[in-house]
Amino acid sequence: MSKLHEQGLEISTDVLIVGGGPAAAWAALAAAEQGARVVVADKGYLGSSGAFAASTSGAKVIPPLKELRDPVKFERYALGGHLAVHGWWDRLLDITYEKAPKIYEWGGYDQPMLNGLPAYRGLQGSETMRIMRKELLRSGITILDQSPALELLVDDDGAVAGARGIQRQEDRPWTVKAGAVVLASGGCAWMSKALGCNTNTGDGLLMAVEAGGELSGMEFSGHYSLAPVNSSMTKSAFYRYATYTDEAGQEIEGLSKNGHRSTSAVAKALLRGPVYALLNKGTDHPDVQRMLRLSQPNFFAALDRFGVDPFTQRFQITLVLEGTVRGTGGVRIVNEDCGSTVTGLYAAGDAATRELNCGGFTGGAGPNMTWAIGSGNIAGKAAALHTRGLGETASQRRVHGVGGAGLISPAGASVSYDANEVVRGVQAEMLPLDKNIFRTETGLLASLDKLDRLWSEVQKAPQQNTAQQTQRSREAAALVASARWAYFAGLERKETRGMHKRLDYPQLDPNQRHYLAVGGLDKLWVRPEPVAEPIVPEPVEEEFDSLEKLLGRAEPVIRAAAPRAAREERAVLV
Ligand SMILES: Cc1cc2nc3c(=O)[nH]c(=O)nc-3n(C[C@H](O)[C@H](O)[C@H](O)COP(=O)(O)OP(=O)(O)OC[C@H]3O[C@@H](n4cnc5c(N)ncnc54)[C@H](O)[C@@H]3O)c2cc1C
Repeated sequence: MSKLHEQGLEISTDVLIVGGGPAAAWAALAAAEQGARVVVADKGYLGSSGAFAASTSGAKVIPPLKELRDPVKFERYALGGHLAVHGWWDRLLDITYEKAPKIYEWGGYDQPMLNGLPAYRGLQGSETMRIMRKELLRSGITILDQSPALELLVDDDGAVAGARGIQRQEDRPWTVKAGAVVLASGGCAWMSKALGCNTNTGDGLLMAVEAGGELSGMEFSGHYSLAPVNSSMTKSAFYRYATYTDEAGQEIEGLSKNGHRSTSAVAKALLRGPVYALLNKGTDHPDVQRMLRLSQPNFFAALDRFGVDPFTQRFQITLVLEGTVRGTGGVRIVNEDCGSTVTGLYAAGDAATRELNCGGFTGGAGPNMTWAIGSGNIAGKAAALHTRGLGETASQRRVHGVGGAGLISPAGASVSYDANEVVRGVQAEMLPLDKNIFRTETGLLASLDKLDRLWSEVQKAPQQNTAQQTQRSREAAALVASARWAYFAGLERKETRGMHKRLDYPQLDPNQRHYLAVGGLDKLWVRPEPVAEPIVPEPVEEEFDSLEKLLGRAEPVIRAAAPRAAREERAVLV
């Protein structure tokens, strides 16, 4: 008998949150604020698992002034192919402005100020999550650490009614019946070892689709970040100070465009040979170096370990896939509650598509975290209200699990698959720059063919003798499934838009300004979905002058046209 069928922990609650990052923590608090009983199940330890705890991500905490918020909304609007929705941005910015400062209050810190406005700097991801964990416990929320969810439970009407998973340390299964579930299990980085991302294997995407959910934005999942070779340090802001050289020490020009690093240009250089970086542009003053170390201490950890001073010694760099973590793509949101197409199922953070505020572009340096905070709060509250609406029936429902691949042994199957082998097979299609960044119809079809074969492989009996094996078998299935959705949607988008680059369709096609909903398990499907707003025209720069008058001071404030670094001064490091 597999571990999954043993007697385990059983809980009945109002709202179950799957995940343990900021989106999950905010969702849990928002649900508890509504008076709901809340259980959070995290694959790792809530406080240190996931992308945020490891990476220290800024959010956009911006006062409600058009002059300050418009630059944020427009900063990547065109880069994301005009797929973001300004109405969503407004809600997310309002929520983030209200909620993010509470971290300082809960942690007992003074709120830092910059130019007379709250700056919200100085807290690392792990510190923020430590504070949030305490707040969750103080609010009476039950936390199940080291307890990956493996499948969703649905009632006889197909509404989501809980989940089932495994407690790794107790080596036993858990079942939580709930009125509603929020999926906040992060994105999918295909186990590339990007910073904090190896827990994020697309489990939530697979669970959602198995329950009848749909995904969106999966074609925008090819996000890569720079990292020193042999490290997982994918923090990339400081490369704006870099000079790049090749093996022979010759400077490589053209790796950034309009002040932004060009991933395609770096990828092309890497495909030619080794690339090195030296952080020597305007960093020679010791105060500057000290300030950089203070603002992102983790960036230097690997380099210090290698004995490299990045301001005077060049170091070899590579591109590491961050997938939907800093790309986009996730559960399709179908209403203002962060609800999915399935009753009782909500999604938040990287588990949900982030097209609504990032479009088809990366949301690093602020928009992603703003989405995690905003969507977490929206989904948590909505899940609690949904459960309240069910009344007594919520806990009386008959439920059954809907997990399949990597979890269930088909009748009579005795052959098991090697999960590690499957993971390597998926990575061979997803990690290479020439396959995922520079896409073509031929290349995508060839990859899909291999991924389809891996999908057949994970239909065999999974190895489940230990909790670790059970988790890994299921993760392998989720990685294959997520890869197939990413490339299937990529095949359908016959243009270059946002992060999705097609060598065979190098131009943006105005007729393809739509989202691509994608789903299916054995047989995949894809269909266009309209964007809720017509393209919002970019404001003319003069519109921003009024803020200087408003604040009654002469120094420049953030403008749409200001350098990116200056605009990111407003990014929040919570
Ligand atoms: C290096 C790096 C730098 C970044 N910098 C920025 C930045 O400056 N600004 C910005 O806006 N964004 C940034 N991002 C992105 C940002 O970190 C994410 O958007 C954010 O962490 C999303 O929060 P989340 O809670 O959805 O996911 P995560 O923080 O990744 O948390 C996901 C959680 O889900 C859990 N989980 C996964 N699977 C399961 C399962 N089956 N069952 C239970 N739990 C599960 C994980 O253990 C984890 O706790 C950065 C990302 C990286 C990698």
